[in-house]
Amino acid sequence: MGKVNTVLGPIPTEDLGITAMHEHIGFGLPGCDLDTQWWKKPEEAFEVTLQKLRRFREHGGKTFVDCTGIGNGRDIEYFQVLSRRTGVNIVAVTGFVAADSALPYFRKQSVEYLTDLFVREVTVGIDGTDAKAGAIKVGVSRGGKLNELDKRIYRAAARASLITGAPIITHLCVDAQTSIDIFNEEGLPLNRVLFGHADDGGYLDENRDKLIAELGGWVGFDTIGYDSEVEGAPYWSRPRQDRVEHFLRFIEKGYLDRAVISADANCCALGWPGLKGHSVNYLFEEFLPDLMKAGVGEEVFEQLLVHTPAKILTMQEPVKPKSLSLKQLQV
Ligand SMILES: [Zn+2]
Repeated sequence: MGKVNTVLGPIPTEDLGITAMHEHIGFGLPGCDLDTQWWKKPEEAFEVTLQKLRRFREHGGKTFVDCTGIGNGRDIEYFQVLSRRTGVNIVAVTGFVAADSALPYFRKQSVEYLTDLFVREVTVGIDGTDAKAGAIKVGVSRGGKLNELDKRIYRAAARASLITGAPIITHLCVDAQTSIDIFNEEGLPLNRVLFGHADDGGYLDENRDKLIAELGGWVGFDTIGYDSEVEGAPYWSRPRQDRVEHFLRFIEKGYLDRAVISADANCCALGWPGLKGHSVNYLFEEFLPDLMKAGVGEEVFEQLLVHTPAKILTMQEPVKPKSLSLKQLQV
């Protein structure tokens, strides 16, 4: 009976099917469209993106969660065209990848302002359309600790999650205790938070993964395919087999039902090269075969790609945050 917001309107949870929880149609920093080396013409980006989404559909993929957020390439009308042309459900997010990629306009805004902004995008629509966000994105800025603006964004996201019932997806789960403290202070249960990029090669910490799972949060192995074997791989890449083993250890500890997998790939990166040849389809073409070789069964894939995403993305009943008055709830 649940529902999930997509760019073409809410759909029943049962229609999500195979879902990639952390992907990008195209991520770029503000100003990326002025890049003279890597910026692609819209027609070219459109073609490449269509091909990747169609292949995703051929693999049985039905839902693609674009974790780009405000000001980093999120383009709702473009997403709507892509969804209609490919039959892939696209879920857009409100929020920011991290404070250090937020546009200057938002950097000085209060927790109350940011809460209203996120609530509006989940309940009214994004950029003047009636397409509602299906999740709230937050993240840790470079440096490995939540900075003051990151914290403001996390707090606003927690309040907006309670008010709207939308889940939170994080970029990185480094400094997890600070974010857990904020969510606890705001009264947000951790089963509304997907802590992303636990498999990021720069910030590995298996005790942290265990802590999140034990507290009821979701742990994202969602930078899959950033393999250091690939030419030009970024610094957060790691050897392919290390990631597979890390993931297997996590599920062997009994946390399969707390895990999510995704590739964090760009269909077409905006103003930067992206990782050569990488796409959401790595999950089907490389990662699942790696797991199969290790003896993992099909029912595990269904849990990772269908059942758990459905639990996370289904909108919950709104709850009044303890920090807000009723007046602030009337949005
Ligand atoms: Zn991402």
